[in-house]
Amino acid sequence: MLKIRYPLDSELANSIREMRPPKELHVNVRNLVLKVGKGAVLRKGDIVAEHPSKGVGAFHASACGKVSGVNYHSLTVKCSGGEETVDPVNVETMGKGLELLRALQGLGVDAALFKGGAEVLVVNGQNPEPGISVAQQLLRDGREEIHAGLQMARRLLSPGRTVLAVPKGEETSIPGAETVGVKAKYPYSLDALVVRAVTGREFPEDVRVVNVMDLYDLGKVVLTGLPITETLMSIAGHNYRVPIGTPVRHILDALHMAAGPGDIVVLGGPFRGEAIYSLDQGVKKGDHGLFITSSDSIPAVQDAACINCGECVLQCPARIQPHLISRCAEYERFDEAVRYGLNSCFECGLCAFNCFARRPLLQYIRFAKAQILAKGRETRS
Ligand code: SF4
Ligand code: SF4
Repeated sequence: MLKIRYPLDSELANSIREMRPPKELHVNVRNLVLKVGKGAVLRKGDIVAEHPSKGVGAFHASACGKVSGVNYHSLTVKCSGGEETVDPVNVETMGKGLELLRALQGLGVDAALFKGGAEVLVVNGQNPEPGISVAQQLLRDGREEIHAGLQMARRLLSPGRTVLAVPKGEETSIPGAETVGVKAKYPYSLDALVVRAVTGREFPEDVRVVNVMDLYDLGKVVLTGLPITETLMSIAGHNYRVPIGTPVRHILDALHMAAGPGDIVVLGGPFRGEAIYSLDQGVKKGDHGLFITSSDSIPAVQDAACINCGECVLQCPARIQPHLISRCAEYERFDEAVRYGLNSCFECGLCAFNCFARRPLLQYIRFAKAQILAKGRETRS
């Protein structure tokens, strides 16, 4: 077994940089419910789409402009350069019931994360993947927002214990939470493994995990009353504040980066991120990294046959059999995929990253989960 360590800690030399505003936004609206149409004139912060599932935060315009096109995948906004923003909503004065959760959801917060109670609230302060240092940066430079976010999270969840999980040996702390050190190696940044490290239990129902980026967004909403319109991204060793919907092409131009023919551009991290099919694709809430893999550095992922080497099984921290599950998913035998442990997969991506046949194992797993979810929705409606 090839045992490679994937470190999560980074050197933070600079403060957060601002991305140059784009002339056009491409807001990803696939599978969302549109709230505006072609020709609509938008202020910064106007709602453009909502998620069909209850509890997922709404999506907003990150700049003033006019909707110039809508298709199944994206909504295009021609930015006007205007300064007009929506009116702030004071969520601090609201009670802690449904009204507050609805208001937060309308401001882009995933309210489902903060619904109901929890015995333990774990703040995941680890960088999500190698090469991404946004958590570390926010714990250093976004303390006011994180503190406000934690106060709101504690108000909503009333946890008996609040823990901040940070890389072992780090001194970081936030008021109201005890600090626990966890391994600073991927995949130990994933929620399921952070929870196991903190509580000693696997998938406990009374534990809620919120990562530092979501807590920062929540705190910013609390402090400003304005919706979430940007995401923090690690790009080529620096962290940038990027308006949601900024086309990848704009980011590459602004930072003098280039993607050649056959290169793979990934939004997210090297293990769990998604390769984009067009440089016009806009960044989404929760995209925390942008990477380019050159065409000659690694063989392309392909629908090759599994050679039964067993490497994916050895790598899998969930102790399931990715080769079997992915084959079931490939042939749409979803019930069997579930029997083999599909739902125990926490999508670390180690199986696909290490597959000698370069099979798209994580993509098959995500496909199976999405199909099962869609079927469930169809049955309910
Ligand atoms: S992505 Fe692959 S390695 Fe990771 S938990 Fe799922 S099946 Fe296991
Ligand atoms: S690592 Fe790839 S080739 Fe090897 S068993 Fe797993 S799926 Fe098959």
